[in-house]
Amino acid sequence: MNGDFDYALVGAGLHNGLIALALRVHQPGARVAVVERGPRPGGNHTWCFHAGDLDDAARAWIDPLVVARWPGYDVAFPAHRRRLDAVYACVSSERLAARLTEALDAPGCALWTGAVATEVAADRVTVRAADGGVHEVRATVVIDARGPDHGAPTACGWQKFLGQELRLAAPHGLDRPVLMDATVDQLDGFRFVYVLPLAPDRLLVEDTYFSDGSMIDAAALRARVAAYVADRGWSVVAVEREETGILPLPWRAAAPTATAPLRAGYAGGWFHPVTGYSFPMAARVAGHVAATPAAALFGPGLTRLAAAHGDQLGFALRLNKMLFRWFPPARRYHVLERFYRLPEPLIRRFYALELTALDRARILVGRPPRGLSLRAALRPEVP
Ligand SMILES: Cc1cc2nc3c(=O)[nH]c(=O)nc-3n(C[C@H](O)[C@H](O)[C@H](O)COP(=O)(O)OP(=O)(O)OC[C@H]3O[C@@H](n4cnc5c(N)ncnc54)[C@H](O)[C@@H]3O)c2cc1C
Repeated sequence: MNGDFDYALVGAGLHNGLIALALRVHQPGARVAVVERGPRPGGNHTWCFHAGDLDDAARAWIDPLVVARWPGYDVAFPAHRRRLDAVYACVSSERLAARLTEALDAPGCALWTGAVATEVAADRVTVRAADGGVHEVRATVVIDARGPDHGAPTACGWQKFLGQELRLAAPHGLDRPVLMDATVDQLDGFRFVYVLPLAPDRLLVEDTYFSDGSMIDAAALRARVAAYVADRGWSVVAVEREETGILPLPWRAAAPTATAPLRAGYAGGWFHPVTGYSFPMAARVAGHVAATPAAALFGPGLTRLAAAHGDQLGFALRLNKMLFRWFPPARRYHVLERFYRLPEPLIRRFYALELTALDRARILVGRPPRGLSLRAALRPEVP
């Protein structure tokens, strides 16, 4: 396991997974080592994104990961329903793991699983291997993307969910995802159900909360998924897979930096604090890393990228503060209901964190969403 590489990537999750794949396409001669503590790369997720967020270069290495794609999606709130026409796509952990394993099975490259990085420095990583042996991996560039639970922010709400992939007895009849069905009972904060039609007889159904707390009662969420499915007349033959997520949605977080080792991924600030998603940011960083020679990575291009994201992040953190601090849990859905009345291109730019000054004004100006509580806004913040 010891050795010299051009890139040492710590954590084989979404961000480093995309970086490794982009490097294999744009710098096929680069020596890339990936260190993952889990038994396989990619974890257990279904990652969705707006297909319009990717440029042509990124499509080359992301398209082979896509397991489903739809021409648009729906949202539903108590007083507002809408059909959006932005193409939406989905990548599975399984597909990412397969492509990554294949791509790193090349001379000069390595993928070590069951290997825990114990120290991460600018030019080396100390690794405890599955057999207990300690090794040192040296590299021109070290990229640390150890995920949302590595360096959690201090002031945050939570997006938590439990999703089940269901095989049904008969076709469900959906032709596109339901990104938010918030017509369900509002419990434990803003609650909605997320439905992805993965095949005519397969659905991923997630019971999701924007909550003040991070606890999940898995049995209760499973029961709510079952009730939602039964209400729609869908008969379940098998639960084929289950995933859970507990993602911090902070209103304070450090902006990303462009210094070595590169702190990438969620823990490095490259995420969307309002949605907990990070696919567009991961694609952007991966594209930049792969297009820049290793020795020149920590230059003005990366500084500009970090500054641009830091600016967007700052605005999104303020939105989170309003959502979690100004609106009592049961009324939070009004904020999203109002948001989904905005123009569709703005909604896409919001998810991609590419908001213009005009977009920001449109989000903030005008009559505030129903449910705003000055009392809630003025209550002291518990550290
Ligand atoms: C179930 C689920 C569904 C989601 N759906 C979406 C979605 O649809 N769209 C979207 O954009 N986002 C989605 N998200 C959020 C998204 O997964 C995160 O934003 C993203 O995974 C963050 O990427 P990352 O690379 O920073 O961390 P991760 O993907 O969590 O990867 C971190 C990796 O580092 C490894 N690691 C940690 N510590 C060490 C160590 N010491 N040594 C070696 N390895 C280590 C971990 O095992 C892990 O594999 C979802 C999250 C979950 C949980």
